[in-house]
Amino acid sequence: MALIVHKYGGTSVGSIEKIGKVADKICAQVKKGDQIVVAVSAMSGETNRLIALAEEMSDQPHPREMDVLVSTGEQVTIALLTMALHDRGCDARSYTGAQIGMITDSAHGKARIRDIQCDAAVHKDLEQGKVVVVAGFQGVDEHGNITTLGRGGSDTTAVAMAAALDADECQIYTDVDGVYTTDPRVEPKARKLDKITFEEMLEMASLGSKVLQIRSVEFAGKYNVPLRVLSSFEEGEGTLIALEDENVEQATISGIAFNRDEAQLTITGVPDKPGVASLILGPITEANIEIDMIVQNVGVDVTTDFTFTVHRNDFAKALELLEKTSKELGAKQVLGDDKIVKVSLVGVGMRSHAGIANTMFQTLAREGINIRMISTSEIKISVVVDEKYLELAVRSLHEAFELDVDGVIA
Ligand code: ADP
Ligand code: ASP
Ligand code: MG
Repeated sequence: MALIVHKYGGTSVGSIEKIGKVADKICAQVKKGDQIVVAVSAMSGETNRLIALAEEMSDQPHPREMDVLVSTGEQVTIALLTMALHDRGCDARSYTGAQIGMITDSAHGKARIRDIQCDAAVHKDLEQGKVVVVAGFQGVDEHGNITTLGRGGSDTTAVAMAAALDADECQIYTDVDGVYTTDPRVEPKARKLDKITFEEMLEMASLGSKVLQIRSVEFAGKYNVPLRVLSSFEEGEGTLIALEDENVEQATISGIAFNRDEAQLTITGVPDKPGVASLILGPITEANIEIDMIVQNVGVDVTTDFTFTVHRNDFAKALELLEKTSKELGAKQVLGDDKIVKVSLVGVGMRSHAGIANTMFQTLAREGINIRMISTSEIKISVVVDEKYLELAVRSLHEAFELDVDGVIA
């Protein structure tokens, strides 16, 4: 008998009919003798609908109330799914984040899980043959305030439950049948991977592949939770996210990730002297704006230029702060562009292969795509390009690195 945690995303529970199908799937698994815990998302579109309502109601909704609002989506799904399970003769109980003891910090909208307190009660339910249905995405802080875990956070709920219960596997059911070499909606020739290492999946997720929330991968790596991404609608083995070992495909490049949520800011003609970077970036980070890539040019004469990227949602605020700094520093000008994207090549095999960057730059040049920024690490190379080139960049790199071909690239 295995203990498996399932997670169903928004599209998989997007209608009454689909919730019924999910219930059928769970019942079949229970009949086989497995113990099942299920984490579910809000029905598709619901979280966006709730956010839009809040924006209509108020210019600056209070983060605490925002979480009270957006957490309702998942509560609807747990109740409906549990009803569907009952109707199929499958004993089940639903739990909100607070009821399951999903204790988080108090960072509304991006809370981190600290503890799951009700694991004993859950084990009891499971021993009695009940399916435990948990609302994804939500928790509660030490003062009893409802919190949420950030967009895509139901993945993290599922992995956290699997870690707390020492489950045999955490299965993320979604609208694609696994993790692909890149988003199959952008490159239809993308190839499904049978296995990917935690390290690569973490890099793919942090560089914009929304198939798994980054924190869920961090959690799975930290607590060694076997994690699998599969289709809610079709049978199949999906993709196993595994520790690095000889069984994991060692292609040089395992995938291409991209992020459409970036914006770029530049300040030119700033004095080239110690302390300037912190004078420029200090006010931005103090405003709780996360900075992604940073490039400082080599100083010419006594001045230099400085470019960095932030989340598109923070663009207007960052621009305003930078203009203020620019006046204080006597800089030449401030430029901003929120029509840019970041495209990244990811692969653990990259470590031992020279020439990857060169092939990447040549490929983009051949397509007439100008690179605005570059950043590299041991297992990734990222470039910032104009938004209009996203599809072209992804597809041409996918082809150049032969990612649609199953095999190792020299
Ligand atoms: P869910 O609602 O089930 O959580 P998401 O929309 O969050 O689903 O994640 C699934 C989506 O992730 C897919 O529909 C696909 O467009 C996108 N995606 C991005 N990168 C990849 C990738 N490398 N492999 C598979 N899917 C990807
Ligand atoms: N419903 C939340 C969202 O849309 C959480 C999730 O689906 O994982 O982001
Ligand atoms: Mg998701």
